Amino acid sequence: MKSHVGMEQKVCPVCGQAFDTGAILLDKRLRNTLERKTVTGWDLCPEHAKQWEKGYIALVECDPEKSTFTDGTIKPQDAYRTGRIVHIRKAAADRIFDVEIKSPVAFVEPGVVDALEKMQEGETSGD
Ligand SMILES: [Zn+2]
Repeated sequence: MKSHVGMEQKVCPVCGQAFDTGAILLDKRLRNTLERKTVTGWDLCPEHAKQWEKGYIALVECDPEKSTFTDGTIKPQDAYRTGRIVHIRKAAADRIFDVEIKSPVAFVEPGVVDALEKMQEGETSGD
């Protein structure tokens, strides 16, 4: 049932889960256009926002055959997640991918996560 008030939700591009932002949405004309929970866009969930603040980016493994590519990249809504997520330090990611990654999430193909986990094993000491 729709109403003129709704609870705002956003979807986390890392885990793909919808979460409450705590904001209340109001239809300015008081029309009943809003679901009780209304997704308004993408944002990091509290857990993954914390990782980003700590300087980690999330590499989200996707199935390339089931994901849709747009100009060589996958948009959050087109990603078919395999469920594997690895967090690596942003500086390390910049070095590995040889570009500055500006977003808190990057979609990668299977195999990349395995390779990175191996690389990280040698890197985490002294952290
Ligand atoms: Zn999340």
